Amino acid sequence: MAEAIALVGCKGPGQEAEYLRILSAAMPEERLIPFRTMDDAARAAARVAVVANPDPAEVAALPGLVWVQSLWAGVEKLVGAFDRPLPIVRLVDREMARTMAEAVLAWTYYLQRDMPAYARQQRDRVWRPHAYRKPSDTTVGLLGLGALGTAAAERLTGAGFRVVGWSRGPKAVPGLETFHGTDSLPAMLGRCDILVCLVPLTPETRGLVDARRLAALKPGAALINFARGPIVVTEDLIAALDSGHLAHAVLDVFGVEPLPADSPLWSHPGVTVLPHISGPTDMDSAAATVAENLRAYRRTGQVPDGVDAARGY
Ligand code: NAP
Repeated sequence: MAEAIALVGCKGPGQEAEYLRILSAAMPEERLIPFRTMDDAARAAARVAVVANPDPAEVAALPGLVWVQSLWAGVEKLVGAFDRPLPIVRLVDREMARTMAEAVLAWTYYLQRDMPAYARQQRDRVWRPHAYRKPSDTTVGLLGLGALGTAAAERLTGAGFRVVGWSRGPKAVPGLETFHGTDSLPAMLGRCDILVCLVPLTPETRGLVDARRLAALKPGAALINFARGPIVVTEDLIAALDSGHLAHAVLDVFGVEPLPADSPLWSHPGVTVLPHISGPTDMDSAAATVAENLRAYRRTGQVPDGVDAARGY
């Protein structure tokens, strides 16, 4: 039998037991051992680690690793965290893309149908209808046209929204006008009634949505950040909301999670705070994807396609 696979980064014994059960059922031919119960010999022997948002120091304590399979799509904490090049394979999973696309559509409707304003009005016992804006008169801009951005684009265009998208390199997506590269960003932002952030956190995207980029959006536009907190500059966001240029922000991700109790975002009337729930990992589906990757690796010896260390995603 091949050496055991290390399972690293579970939140508590309950999650660890659940992940072990689901992963073992998907690949009964493999032996998975939680990092914390591995002895020195098992740690030295491990060639593959399956990780759930782990402490990079625990991954680094497995000196023989050949590659790391993440159960999360965002792996920014692992990229460049080790003193040797270690391939990181992030989770690219159809069920996660479906869930995220559903969340993008749901919160786009929330904004397009003025639900934040009606919630505020109800609190104040105010009866005031707002003008209806059709999806076909609402332009949604997607920052990021990867696995999640393209799935979201499909749901949005299917619901009749006008969609524009932005990526690093040129990309053709059916039904979308696409832009690429930093120079094209102002033109894209100037079209957006709702901007949805789905780029990975990299040195290039940290602070991407700042005062200048927010000012480039249409007056009264709204923001959805489902990617990573540090992509949006919080102070600039609050200033854009306070000035009335931005109508509302739906935030699922933050620089520090859980969002600290003293964050001004909790009580800002223009902000909806969500606890990182827009695209949860579906363990059954993720386990099937991980099992497929591991079987291919055992068969061929080839590490599955992973993160490009130079690009950072
Ligand atoms: P992906 O497949 O790697 O796609 C990333 C997209 O972003 C690509 O279109 C890429 O452009 C674009 N991009 C990257 N850097 C850029 C830059 N500097 N300028 C312009 N475009 C850039 O990633 P994904 O699977 O769609 O996931 C995106 C992110 O969502 C993850 O990294 C993670 O942080 C976040 N996420 C959040 C949750 C949640 O629950 N909130 C769940 C899952 C994932 P190219 O196409 O040109 O490469």
